[in-house]
Amino acid sequence: MPVPLLDLRAQHATIRDDVLDAVVQLADCQQFILGEPVVALERAVADLSHVAHAVGCASGTDALLLAFRALDIGRGDEVITTPFTFFATAGTIHNVGATPVFVDIDPATFNISPAAVREAITPRTKAIVPVDLFGQMAAIEEIAAAAPGIPIIEDAAQSIGARRKIAGVWRMAGEAATMGTLSFFPSKNLGGYGDGGMILTQNEALATRLRRLRVHGGATQYYHDEVGYNSRLDALQAVVLSAKLPHLAAWSEKRRQNARYYDSALAGIPDLRTPTIDPNNECIFNQYTLRVGRRDDLQAALKARGIGSAVYYPLPLHLQPCFAYLGYREGACPRSETAAREVLSLPIYPELTRAQQDEVVTTIREFYGT
Ligand SMILES: *Cc1c(COP(=O)(O)O)cnc(C)c1O
Repeated sequence: MPVPLLDLRAQHATIRDDVLDAVVQLADCQQFILGEPVVALERAVADLSHVAHAVGCASGTDALLLAFRALDIGRGDEVITTPFTFFATAGTIHNVGATPVFVDIDPATFNISPAAVREAITPRTKAIVPVDLFGQMAAIEEIAAAAPGIPIIEDAAQSIGARRKIAGVWRMAGEAATMGTLSFFPSKNLGGYGDGGMILTQNEALATRLRRLRVHGGATQYYHDEVGYNSRLDALQAVVLSAKLPHLAAWSEKRRQNARYYDSALAGIPDLRTPTIDPNNECIFNQYTLRVGRRDDLQAALKARGIGSAVYYPLPLHLQPCFAYLGYREGACPRSETAAREVLSLPIYPELTRAQQDEVVTTIREFYGT
C-alpha cells in the first residue's frame, strides 16, 4: 500500500464542487486582482487569528519581505532568527539588505531559544523572527521578555490556526507578535492552487503601509510615496482559500488525531523520539517530525515500501553556501546541526487512513527490530 507524504488529490476530492463553483463564478465576473474575494478572505483569516488586520500578498516569502519593509528594516540592521527553518525566513532578511543573525533552537520543540535570542541582541537589532515550526508556536511571550521593545515578526507559514496559552489565555499564531506572516503554498495546512501569503497585525498604521507596499508603494494609483512591490494575492487564490477555510479546523484536528496514533504506536523504540509539544501549545502538525538514529537508512527502508517521508531541513541556514559571507562555522548552532542529522517527517495529512499509518508504523518497527 503506497503512503505518500502528502495527498492533495485526496483532499481535493472532498471539496471539489465547492472549490470549482467558486472558481467558475470568479471566471464569469473576470475580476482577478484583489477586490471583494481578497477582502473577504482577509476578514475571515483575521477573525480566525484574532487580529485586527490581515493583508493578502503573493506568497509567504513576500509576506516576510513586506513586513520587514513596513518596519524600515534594511542596510546596517540585524535581524535575529533561527537557522532551523525554511530558507525564506532568512533569505528575505538578506534581500532587504539586513544581516541575518542566527541563534540556536530549543532541542525539544525545534523552535528558536529565547535565551539564545537574549544573548544575540545588539544596538543594531531591529527585529526578531521566530518561526512556528512544523505547526507549533514559538515561545512568543518569552521572546518578547528576552527582547523588550524589539518588534517580533512571527513566521507562521506552517502554523495557521495554531495556538498557545500565554498568561492563561489562548493566543493564535500571529496574534501576539508585531506582525505574523502566513503562506498558502499548496503543502501548508491551508493551501491554495498556487502561491499566496498574508500578513497579520493588530497595528493599523502597519496594515496601511503593507497595503501600500503590495501595490508598488502608492496609496493612490499612479502616485508613489515609496517604492514597493507587485505582491498581491490573486482573487482566484482567495476564492479557493475561502472555500477551503471552513474545513481547516477539522483538518487540523484530524492531523492531531493522526499524531496521537503515531505517538502511541511508535512509543518505546530506543532509537526514535516522537515530537515534543510544549504543554502550552496546541499544534496543527503541518509536519510530524521524528528524531531518529540511522535516519538515512530508515528513510530508504520507508521508500522501498512506497512510504513518503522528508528531511526538513538537511542543512541549517547558518551553514548554507549563500551565507558563507556571514562567517558562521560548523558548531555555531550545534542543536540545529544535530537536528538536521536526526529529523524525519512522516505522512500526517488529514486524509491518511489508519491502515496507511499502520503500514508506516510496521515498517519502522521492522527496521529497528522492535
Ligand atoms: C513555506 C514557508 C515560507 C515561505 O512561503 P512561500 O509561500 O512558499 O513563499 C516561509 N517560512 C516558512 C517557515 C515556510 O515553511
